[in-house]
Amino acid sequence: MIIMSSEYKEIKKLNKLPRLPLEGSIDLTYRCDNNCRHCWLRLSPNAQEKKQELSFDEIKNIIDQARKLGNRKWSISGGEPMLRPDFSEIFDYITSHSISYSLNTNGGLITPAIARLMKRQGNKMIAVYGATREVHDHITRNPGSYDATMRGFAYLKEAGGSFTVQLIPMKDNYHQYDLMVKLAQSLSKHYRIGAPWLYLSASGDPIINEEIKKQRLYQKDVIELDKPSLSYEEKMEQENAGCAYVKRGDDRLFAACIANRRDFHVDPYGQMTFCSFIKDPKMRYDLRTGTVKEGWDKFIPSLADKVRGTKDYLEGCAVCEDRKNCRWCPVYGYLEHGDFSKKMEYLCAVAKENKDYKKNWQKEHRTYYQIGGITIQVESDLPITDKTFHPKLAPFHVAGPGADTVYIHHHFALPDLEKKDLGKRLYSKPPWSIYKKDDTWIYLGISPSTGEKDLHKIAVFNADHSRGQIYHPNDKSFKKGDLSALTSFFLIKY
Ligand code: SF4
Ligand code: SF4
Repeated sequence: MIIMSSEYKEIKKLNKLPRLPLEGSIDLTYRCDNNCRHCWLRLSPNAQEKKQELSFDEIKNIIDQARKLGNRKWSISGGEPMLRPDFSEIFDYITSHSISYSLNTNGGLITPAIARLMKRQGNKMIAVYGATREVHDHITRNPGSYDATMRGFAYLKEAGGSFTVQLIPMKDNYHQYDLMVKLAQSLSKHYRIGAPWLYLSASGDPIINEEIKKQRLYQKDVIELDKPSLSYEEKMEQENAGCAYVKRGDDRLFAACIANRRDFHVDPYGQMTFCSFIKDPKMRYDLRTGTVKEGWDKFIPSLADKVRGTKDYLEGCAVCEDRKNCRWCPVYGYLEHGDFSKKMEYLCAVAKENKDYKKNWQKEHRTYYQIGGITIQVESDLPITDKTFHPKLAPFHVAGPGADTVYIHHHFALPDLEKKDLGKRLYSKPPWSIYKKDDTWIYLGISPSTGEKDLHKIAVFNADHSRGQIYHPNDKSFKKGDLSALTSFFLIKY
């Protein structure tokens, strides 16, 4: 099952939480045994920077300081974090001093002992760069890496923990993308697609950057892999949420980002800032000479006013009509041109494709009905045709949204609820169990004989039920058409 993204979660109103460093990410090393063609960070396994990496004691100290300030989650990454000989100790310490964690690895250095440690509940992502030995090793430029990664998967399976296969698509493996998906499905119940477009190297090395550019996918493939979720984006826009939502005319490039984020990043040398993509040394704070508290309370907020966009920004991305269709962020401008204010031509092309996709999607996947003065915006992952809803609903059909619009979105795969905290169970009697977590209502369609074991439907609504995501186990009824309810809840029959 592919991991559901933002759609399943109710949008976190981060800017309404107190400003605490709740989530940290730490890159344990930028060294890696692979040398992937698309990699923006990698150093060779014995690079001299190894000597400057944080010691285990220094890492423990950072973890302890952050914990006292409210930190509860760590993301562990690299380079290849397992290249550190003390990886097991670090991993053990971080995961036993936080409520949850995520780990990114190429999987090739997993040992049976590490696999047993990785059974700890958390989000473990193991990268796959090709469906075959030839293609995977061609991408990693490390002969034997495919076999090593597959061995890592075997150890993980033997140990019995769950993990996510992370597929990394690019030009040289895209021809076998479907096979990569099949391989991922054969390895784990969960897979996800890594970033479908590539940013340039933090090193600025022209040879590395030429190779990364060569691996960039065509814009239509980028959108195919990372289809925008329109209702989610529109809600973010309405709430002016998310770190990229800088107000027009505001030249403080990172002000919104710093105000909205509750996370921070620490690089292998103890440099702290608010985002893992920030590589400008002036924007990183040295934890070897200062404290996490000082970095979080003083240094990071000070960057909000300090970093200003130039004319390039104010006349370019800041006022760009396509900004809401674009994945641009000043950090990518920096990686591409060494300048936070500069646009990225590649992303301009992706944004145009995105806009066209959205226009078509709205036409084919969205429709409106008005009942009792309330407009219902119905959306679906599958196209909605004249045959989808029963003709008796036709008199209620309207052209567009109203003052009081409710949103319903149909999906055709059930999200993975294994080990998910659904909150408090308020009611349970077939056909429904009802849970409430924070501002989210979760309805599980349950069976009279097997209860919650066999789910036939999951619906997730926000606090006032004005937005709902409805998950069906398959697309059969929807494709058959003639649905007599916009929610299709009528399909529950016992
Ligand atoms: S495995 Fe990851 S860190 Fe290593 S070279 Fe490949 S992309 Fe870079
Ligand atoms: S990168 Fe291009 S499309 Fe994106 S906001 Fe900047 S100018 Fe607009």
